[in-house]
Order: sequence, then structure tokens, then C-alpha cells
Amino acid sequence: MRKTLTIDPAEIDRQLALCDQIHALLDQRPGQKLAFVDTYGCQQNEADSERLRGYLARMGYAFTDTEEGADLVLLNTCAIREHAEQRVFGNVGALSHTKRRHPQQILCVCGCMAQQDHVAQRLRQSFPYVDLVFGPQVLWQFPQLLLEKVTSGKRVFATEDVPGTVAEGIPVVRQNNLKAWVSIMYGCNNFCTYCIVPYVRGRERSRQPEEILAEVRQLAAAGYKDITLLGQNVNSYGKDLGLGVDFAWLLEQVNAIAGDFLIRFMTSHPKDAGERLFDAMAACEKVAPVLHLPFQSGSSRVLKAMNRGYTREGYLTLVDQLRQRIPDIVLTSDVIVGFPGETQEEFEETMRLIETVQYDALFTFIFSPRHGTPAEKLPDPMPKEQKSANFQRLLQRQNEISRARHQRYIGKTYRCLVDGQGGDGRLTARTAGGRLVHLEADTELVGTWQQVKMTGASNWALFGTLV
Ligand code: SF4
Repeated sequence: MRKTLTIDPAEIDRQLALCDQIHALLDQRPGQKLAFVDTYGCQQNEADSERLRGYLARMGYAFTDTEEGADLVLLNTCAIREHAEQRVFGNVGALSHTKRRHPQQILCVCGCMAQQDHVAQRLRQSFPYVDLVFGPQVLWQFPQLLLEKVTSGKRVFATEDVPGTVAEGIPVVRQNNLKAWVSIMYGCNNFCTYCIVPYVRGRERSRQPEEILAEVRQLAAAGYKDITLLGQNVNSYGKDLGLGVDFAWLLEQVNAIAGDFLIRFMTSHPKDAGERLFDAMAACEKVAPVLHLPFQSGSSRVLKAMNRGYTREGYLTLVDQLRQRIPDIVLTSDVIVGFPGETQEEFEETMRLIETVQYDALFTFIFSPRHGTPAEKLPDPMPKEQKSANFQRLLQRQNEISRARHQRYIGKTYRCLVDGQGGDGRLTARTAGGRLVHLEADTELVGTWQQVKMTGASNWALFGTLV
């Protein structure tokens, strides 16, 4: 069994000392130093950005929400689809202007995109004003890399394919004091043929249970009310630890922690999901009655070509087992339309699957070839127009299904967490199942649990009144 590399705490202490060194250097220049951290992509990237902010705060930076006037700009990038990459290159291009106005500004690009050779090359050759480029594997060394840039004045690139690590003790600056991300593991071993994640985030490695439980205890004591356990595939938690623990066990331990909070988790892989997990979800009162279980395609042949490790029938059996235990579970998923080689009949199988399952919400994507993945090289005869037509049809049908599922809430009362205020001034809240609720109420209720009676519904949201 492959041993997970955990960074020596003394190494993290050294990185923190380098933060203090950078702080002293920055103090030589007058004024409060400002950092702008821009995060693309998934919740894992959000959690990584919270650690990067932790380091930056230790260096003496305050935070701004615009690149204009920032002393340091950090783009934490995503490589999951072509569109995400084009957006980043567009924004890096636009930053040449702010850099021209603020030559002292330090521009950093990190995250999954930066971990790819062809991207690092392009940043090196075509964007000479980018100062620091590093991948997710070496995030823990950010202070060292930044100090090298600041003291040498030279550009720094740290994108070698190094083994994945687990680093504990990095300070965290969270986005709010209500909802928290807690990473339980990093990387992925599944190698779905369309996915770049295993190539940029490395092999699966779990955090030690006591580190996770300590973090959750701290959050619960600090009054956090919504805690999401994060991993590319949380269901394989613990496999690399050799402690005989698994994700269901971890859920039970987190559930035993005192406090009035909900536990959520993502992302689950169907091949590692099953009755043990569903029993734990049903038995743990703090576990939110919601599951995000990506199915990706309704065709077993396409699932095989995707290397997903389950069949259409196997997936539908999982859904039945889950609903037997938690009848009102909120079920969401991901689907890819137009995987190379998908026939029209195989797409119809996808349409029939969403008809059978009736998801509360579905994240729909058209296949986007990723450089270096097996699917990039597969023959792809279906015309783009047909894929778009299929995509639109699926979207339209799913919107009808979501609307119908939301109608079932009307007239009922749910315990909701009031979590903010929308652009229209109304408050926003979330049911335990994660459904978005709009309600008219006083802003002082933000951060509290409230009983809300649902009075209306749309595809994506519910409307309610305080009880
Ligand atoms: S499970 Fe598959 S889709 Fe998800 S991160 Fe891993 S390789 Fe990618």
C-alpha cells in the first residue's frame, strides 16, 4: 500500500517564518499591502484559496476584491473544461494593463491549469509579466516561492510533477463565518478518461482523522452551521491510511461532535458508494439529506469508455437503495453530453435515465476534450450541432423535472439556514437539502436557523415566508 507523504510540521513552521520575513520586507514600503485572490472552478479550489489567503494574511496583506491597485494578484485556476482555461488566459492577458500601471504588482497563477506543462510553457513564453506559477502539489511552499521571487526579482515556475502531499497547519482565512469547507482528502485514482484531475492533483491521499475532527470541532465551537467535507472522491477516504477506517466511519465521528451544524460532503463516486454509506447518512442526524452522485451517462457502453467503473443498472440500484433509506433525499448529479463515440440512441438512454431518477438538479456539460486525457484521442463522429441540440433538449427536460420537484415543497415548512441577501434585497436561505430559498425578512436573521413555509417555486429556487 502506497504511503501518503505528510509534510513535516517543522517544514510548515519554516514556511510560516518565511511569511514573517516577507512581512518585514513589505513593511519597508509605506502603506497597507493589498492582495486580490481570484478563484476559478470547484470547491476544492475554494478551500485551497482559503489556505493561500491564510499565508497572505500572515505576510501582512489585507484583501481587496479587484486587481486594480492590488500589490499582489493570485489567480487560482481550473482545468476541468476548455472554457475555464480560455477565461483564465483572457484575464491574464487583461492584467498586462494593470501591471503596466502598477509595475510593482506581483502576478501569480496557480491551481490545476498551472500544473499542466503546455500551460506553464505558454505562461512562460507569452505572458512575460506573470511572476510566479505553481501547481496544487506545492501550494504549501507558496511563502518560499514568493520570497524567491521578491528577493531575486526573477520569475519563478514550480510546476514539476511531484508526488502529492498532505500539509497540516497552514493558516486559513475563510470566506465567511457560517459555512466552511473541510478537505478530507486530495487527488484522485479513478482516471475517468475525460478528466484532467488525476494528472494535475495527483494520487488520492487522505488527511489523518484526528486532524479533520479537530478542525470540525474548532468550526463547531466557532459557530459554523454548515460544514462540507471535501474531496475529489470522498467515498475512498481512508483507503490509503491503513487504519481500517472509511468515509462512513468518518461521517459517524463528525456527527458525534457537539454543535448545531449540518454536515455535507462532495464529491461521491458511484463505484465507491453503497449501503454502508447510505445507512450512515440515514443514521447521522447532522448529515444533510442530500447527495451529489454524478452519473455522467445513461449508457453502460459509454460509461465503460469513460472508465467510470459502474453500469447504468448498477447506478439505478444505488439510487433505489438510497431512496429506500432516505425517501426525501435531495439527489443531484453531473452529466456529460456528446462524449466521443456517443450515438444518438446512447444519448436517448441518458434521457431515459433522468426520466427514471428525477433529479432535483443536474449539472449538464457538453464534452470538452482535455489535453493529455485518453478521451481526447477517441473518434468523435457526432456533429457539434447534434450535440448542442441534445444538450438543449436535456436541459429543457431537466428544468421541467426540477420545477416539478420544487412544487412538492409548496405549503410545507422547512428548517432553513438564512445565509445572505440577494441582489434584489430579499434574504437567501438554504433548506437542509441545499435548496435555495428567497424570503422577505430582516437582515439581522442572516446566520440563523428559521422555520420557513414555502409559498412558491421555480426551476432553481423556492420562495417562502417566515413561520
Ligand atoms: S472521479 Fe473521475 S471525474 Fe472525478 S475527479 Fe476523479 S477522474 Fe475526475
